[in-house]
Amino acid sequence: MKAAVLRRYKEPLQVEELALEAPHVGEIAVKVAAAGVCHSDLYVLEGATPVPPPLVPGHEAVGVVEEVGPGVDGVSPGDYVVTSFIWPCGRCKNCASGRENLCENFAKVRLKGTLLDGTTRLRDGGGGEVRIFLGGTWAERAVIPATAVAKIPRRLAKPEMAMLGCAFLTAYGAVVNTGSAGPGDTVVVIGTGGVGLAAVQVAKAVGARVVAVGRNPAKLEAAREMGAETVDVHGGDPVKAVQELTEGRGADVVIEAVGSDETIQQAVDMAALGGRVVLVGLMPVGHKTPLGLARVVRGGIAVLGSYGARPRVDLPAVIKMVERGLLSPERLAGPFYKLEQINEAVEALRSGRAIRPVVVP
Ligand SMILES: [Zn+2]
Ligand SMILES: [Zn+2]
Repeated sequence: MKAAVLRRYKEPLQVEELALEAPHVGEIAVKVAAAGVCHSDLYVLEGATPVPPPLVPGHEAVGVVEEVGPGVDGVSPGDYVVTSFIWPCGRCKNCASGRENLCENFAKVRLKGTLLDGTTRLRDGGGGEVRIFLGGTWAERAVIPATAVAKIPRRLAKPEMAMLGCAFLTAYGAVVNTGSAGPGDTVVVIGTGGVGLAAVQVAKAVGARVVAVGRNPAKLEAAREMGAETVDVHGGDPVKAVQELTEGRGADVVIEAVGSDETIQQAVDMAALGGRVVLVGLMPVGHKTPLGLARVVRGGIAVLGSYGARPRVDLPAVIKMVERGLLSPERLAGPFYKLEQINEAVEALRSGRAIRPVVVP
């Protein structure tokens, strides 16, 4: 099968012919209909997230199950599925206590570029091992754990649904699970990329008042079309703007989807007393951010990391919300690219021209 392979950090991807082994215990093989291009992939391409190449990036997809390995039940060949970048083992303490997005065994292999058993199913033309970044979905096929997917009705399984598996799952985890946002809350979302705008949609869907903070006029316009009020950081201090919009109270929940020192401090400064700051923006591994802690302590502000959500609990909820018209991934997805155009798709995201480019192998 064909796949987009990263041979060396900071170099263009190459489309290569790879051999894909059959799924092992607990795994499934998915024929990829479409896969999203996400900023987390860019961090891998640049080496800021140090997964060792050669590797196939791509960690959200929609596709059809072709084959299931031993011990898999609940998913069968022919099922349409959305794949996520969270791979619960199902057995560790966190999985058993309902927090499978924080699976301890998944965390051990996440940056190794392998499946849960520490091995990979991909070989290149010379027989060399090829790794994956949380799925390896920039390819015609991918083998992933069966616990990482949710079924989607066939009529809904369009290319734009690929982004449910990372952008919308992350947004749902941040707004609903970690932020506990509800109808009486003001939710500020800093950042208007794929995750930020998905968070705008999820926060609107739970009935919150939503304020989107960003710098890209087209993306702020998209946020307004989704029902958010907006603050353009070019127009002055965004903290002051949020204070003015909330009669000096600040926001009940701030979703920080950028991951810069400046925006993390702004998130804390925008939060109301007793508010929650939810961090979903990724930064390079090892990065340290300075933070004014006096306000965190005196304000009783909770600063919370949020990583994805539960593929077997929350991803079906996200799919149901799409079915009911509460979420619209089609407003964020695109343009669409062939696998051979993968480097163009990456450039479209890097330059800020596209919110969520989608590869259609
Ligand atoms: Zn992602
Ligand atoms: Zn686990």
